[in-house]
Amino acid sequence: MQTDSSATNMNSGGVSQNTYDAIVIGSGISGGWAAKELCELGAKTLVLERGRNVEHLKDYPTMNHNPWDLPHRGSMTREFLDKNPLITKAAGFGEDTAHFFIEDADHPYVQEKPFDWIRGYQVGGKSIIWGRACQRWSNYEFTAPARLGYGIDWPIRYEDIAPWYSRVERFIGVCGNNDGLEAMPDGDYLPPFEFNCVEKELQRKISEHYPDRHMIHGRWAQVTEPAEIHLQQGRGRCQARNMCMRGCPYGAYFSSVSSTLPWAQRTGNLTIRPFSVVHSIIYDEARRAASGVRIIDTNTHEVTEYFARVIFVNASALNSTLILLNSVSDRFPEGLGNDTGLLGKYVAFHNYRGSVGGSYDGPDDKYYYGRKPSEPMLANFRNLGKQDTDFVGGYMAFMGAFRLRADGNTVQEQIGGPYKDGLTEAGEWGGYMYMQGETVPKATNKVSLSKEAKDQWGIPLLVTEVAYDDNDEKLLKDFLTQGAEMLEKAGCRNVEQRDNNWAPGRDIHEMGGVRMGNDPKTSLLNKWNQLHHCKNVFVTDGACMTSTGNQSPSILYMALTARAADHAVREMKRGEL
Ligand SMILES: Cc1cc2nc3c(=O)[nH]c(=O)nc-3n(C[C@H](O)[C@H](O)[C@H](O)COP(=O)(O)OP(=O)(O)OC[C@H]3O[C@@H](n4cnc5c(N)ncnc54)[C@H](O)[C@@H]3O)c2cc1C
Ligand code: SF4
Repeated sequence: MQTDSSATNMNSGGVSQNTYDAIVIGSGISGGWAAKELCELGAKTLVLERGRNVEHLKDYPTMNHNPWDLPHRGSMTREFLDKNPLITKAAGFGEDTAHFFIEDADHPYVQEKPFDWIRGYQVGGKSIIWGRACQRWSNYEFTAPARLGYGIDWPIRYEDIAPWYSRVERFIGVCGNNDGLEAMPDGDYLPPFEFNCVEKELQRKISEHYPDRHMIHGRWAQVTEPAEIHLQQGRGRCQARNMCMRGCPYGAYFSSVSSTLPWAQRTGNLTIRPFSVVHSIIYDEARRAASGVRIIDTNTHEVTEYFARVIFVNASALNSTLILLNSVSDRFPEGLGNDTGLLGKYVAFHNYRGSVGGSYDGPDDKYYYGRKPSEPMLANFRNLGKQDTDFVGGYMAFMGAFRLRADGNTVQEQIGGPYKDGLTEAGEWGGYMYMQGETVPKATNKVSLSKEAKDQWGIPLLVTEVAYDDNDEKLLKDFLTQGAEMLEKAGCRNVEQRDNNWAPGRDIHEMGGVRMGNDPKTSLLNKWNQLHHCKNVFVTDGACMTSTGNQSPSILYMALTARAADHAVREMKRGEL
């Protein structure tokens, strides 16, 4: 296969038939947003997606299943588990959701150090199976790496992205409360899910004991009260069933397939091509710009090239990095835009290792209704203005209170006498917290391309070399100590601390590899997410992250994507791209 073909077009339809204003690689959370914004701004847009097509409602086979409708009541067979040690570890993976995750053999990679790479390859990507937590970053996170000396400066500040957060929140529907916290800025929220009675107590007692620590309502991409814009998308009110990862019959949580992609389709400007693995981006030496994208059809193995004025790379952090590393030309022998050798470096993730939990006495006469699909949050209180610990970075926590059944279980359906007896009575209350911690991007935490091994499409396998460091261990220890103390002060008993020792990656928030920054010597993307050295290529998924912050990242990818798409179309209109 040619690696630098600005002139060839292997599709018999000719260049013009394959030419669009914009190409978007990937149709997940960020790609869906790129498609929506570009199409709304009038750009004829081609979305290239390696996986199969998934249509809202039609392709949610388990959305209304009861446990007994699933052949193995939700569990996977021993044979499947043996063949898929990686993907079966993923949060939410089960018989009801397995069809939205890839199997281990579908796309192998080389783990130089242990790294769990969880993926969903289909139209909609991981937006169908994500957890939907949606907090805003604060200026603390945008400034901390440079201010505290553990990274390069972000090229943007909270003020640059705040209007785009609002745009995204209004469209996708995020529930939550405006709590007036600097560490977790307010947003354009729909009403939150209520706390249960013990959560109210935890909140009251934590704020009594720790005036600077805030347990707040979860901020979640869930339509609790549809606004006009959600009704226009055909989306309705959440029924609190907590079966979201199967696809929602009400369209009540945000996914690309229920929201952004159909919206883009309505403009008449969108073409989606599933079953299309992007092999590389084509660089035109004469124009000193990218001219298009080379794909391999996963059914026919036919190679086709598509052309556009701008290219949005939204294949998710590590796949976007892989595509750029594989896009080699005379000008960029080490990968597109990679003059500095930084491409693939400074990969980071969220530290999810720590959790604490205990029991809570009473109230025995109270229970709660429904299955709330969100959780309360504890905003970060570490290293905000200045460094006040022996580590850098912060952590937030998800937390809550629940009531067991009398047989000691919560939701896991079982069979037999104890289960039936357990159904008739409620058991103990419990309280818990689990962390989402910042990790520090480092040159040594990196991904690269294998020199020998290739996948079934002839594309080099990704090699991962990502590990925890001493800072992560200190942050984890602090969370375990503080979390346990907070639960105890809030009235929990027998509080246990747990380090799950997960490998990086299982936190499913992989970031970096193509980081943003002001200086082309230390970063690959500018403040508009354009490659410094190839301005018509925009990378707006997690690959662009300069640091990880402690908040769930996907809403930031959406906001950055919307902002970059607006910039791209303005530049195209000005003839700059
Ligand atoms: C179980 C789970 C829970 C999560 N919970 C949360 C949460 O609560 N909050 C949060 O913020 N984030 C959460 N995440 C993370 C979130 O899903 C990702 O951050 C988000 O989906 C990233 O968006 P993306 O567009 O970069 O990638 P994706 O949504 O993964 O989409 C990428 C798309 O690109 C396609 N693709 C990849 N390679 C190629 C190629 N070579 N050619 C063509 N197409 C390609 C893929 O098939 C996919 O459709 C969760 C993830 C999981 C798995
Ligand atoms: S909890 Fe709400 S969003 Fe999730 S599946 Fe049920 S109705 Fe849909």
